[in-house]
Amino acid sequence: MTIFEKIIAREIPSTIVFENSDYIAFKDINPKAPVHVLCVPKKVSARLDEITDALEIGQLFQTASRVAREACRLTDYRLAINVGAGAGQIVFHTHVHILGGWKNQDADTHHNEMGQQ
Ligand code: 5GP
Repeated sequence: MTIFEKIIAREIPSTIVFENSDYIAFKDINPKAPVHVLCVPKKVSARLDEITDALEIGQLFQTASRVAREACRLTDYRLAINVGAGAGQIVFHTHVHILGGWKNQDADTHHNEMGQQ
């Protein structure tokens, strides 16, 4: 069971901002931006490139955008996915990072916030 499955099962507490039958979104425990929420498909895959259905990938991004706009009240935001340990993935249950809330809207100054060069 992944740590995110435990969050879905309410075995681990989290601050849930959105949930439907297919997705859950909750605040990242170690935020890298003023707003940092994770959008997680309930159907488990270890990493994005394991998902073969393009519709599923599209729905994941569409849901993440909807969570950013409606649940997080963001008009400007970054969606990011780490694919593989070398890219910074630590939880092997596919998820989209929703990052935003910077005051000056200058996201360029925050391009390293996901721990990448
Ligand atoms: P990754 O590095 O795999 O792309 O992102 C995993 C994210 O999950 C990290 O930003 C990390 O802070 C977050 N995270 C890890 N464990 C927990 C947890 O137990 N609860 C919550 N809310 N976030 C977690």
